Amino acid sequence: MSDLIQRWIRPEILALQAYHVPDASGLIKLDAMENPYTLDDAMQSQWLEALRNAPLNRYPDPEARALRDRLRVAMDVPRSAEIILGNGSDELIQIIAMAMAGPARTILAPEPTFVMYKMIATFAGMQFKGVPLKADFSLDMPMTLSAIEQTQPAIIFLAYPNNPTGNLFERSEVEAIIAAAPGLVVVDEAYHAFAGDSFMNDIERYENLVVMRTVSKMGLAGIRLGLLAGAPGWIGEFNKVRLPYNINVLTQLSGDFALRHQGVFDRQTFAICEQRAILLEQLAGYRELEVFPSQANFVLFRTPPGQAERIFEVLKQGKILIKNLSKQGGLLHDCLRVTVGTPEQNRAFLDVLGKALQSGESKAAARG
Ligand SMILES: *Cc1c(COP(=O)(O)O)cnc(C)c1O
Repeated sequence: MSDLIQRWIRPEILALQAYHVPDASGLIKLDAMENPYTLDDAMQSQWLEALRNAPLNRYPDPEARALRDRLRVAMDVPRSAEIILGNGSDELIQIIAMAMAGPARTILAPEPTFVMYKMIATFAGMQFKGVPLKADFSLDMPMTLSAIEQTQPAIIFLAYPNNPTGNLFERSEVEAIIAAAPGLVVVDEAYHAFAGDSFMNDIERYENLVVMRTVSKMGLAGIRLGLLAGAPGWIGEFNKVRLPYNINVLTQLSGDFALRHQGVFDRQTFAICEQRAILLEQLAGYRELEVFPSQANFVLFRTPPGQAERIFEVLKQGKILIKNLSKQGGLLHDCLRVTVGTPEQNRAFLDVLGKALQSGESKAAARG
């Protein structure tokens, strides 16, 4: 590598791997927690009509006022709270980190969790402290509280439900973390639509709590839109760090359109939750798999030892792309994650999975 690059790119960036997104062309895509449903023809025409007069020559509304008002209602944001929009919640994580970064400052999160918390800590020049979850992916409270005491984290991220494990942490334990935190706690509710609980109404109870949501997992991953709700004081500071016009005009109009048809997305969410129940039940039918409970739109399961990579590859040969987490090791050893799809997609997945498990068994039997 050029000496110039070696000299000037920060060492921690040189050491990073760029976020990898596998090519899914020709495959049934069950790797990224996307909603499998698209808009029907009638709705697609209405959406295109809504975009027809988009003033492409003008900068968008820097405050995205119309969209923000709709999101406040759609996401049940408390009256006293303010919100800030991001180009996906990924951008909001980055905005929070930029506003609070310092070389001696720490971001803390349980692990395994959403990888962007750690990556963005590195981008922002912050320390990262990961606290291992217990084997059942619940919070290890003694470990977490002592890590908070020791590192005095500026920011704690809690994904609720957690990705890639799918579970909701115990509410009382999240509350204990908020109470013990010296800095800000961000409850990341990316999977809120599929979960039975939320901290949105708790913003008013804690001065150090903000709640993050996204429209990605409810069927709009393509428009890149997330929001952060919190006390006006916090949001006002974050808003200074936000680049002007971060929500483009097509996203503003599309988001506004989608939220005017919230019922369509609610029905899709309902269908996905029904399919999740079926998928969980059918996966549990394979005695050789350990299947973890899910309050999200995906299911994490553990294969027999050393089989995850092979099963992942057999699925891919069968034109089904899921996520292989076994490479991360640790608590995720032998783990695969599948996004809940349409009934047809889930059947196709289970069909190939069944064959993969059978062929593993017959190989084991042949070895004797
Ligand atoms: C997918 C995901 C996000 C990212 O959401 P975007 O709005 O698409 O950037 C954030 N947090 C968690 C826990 C996620 O799983």
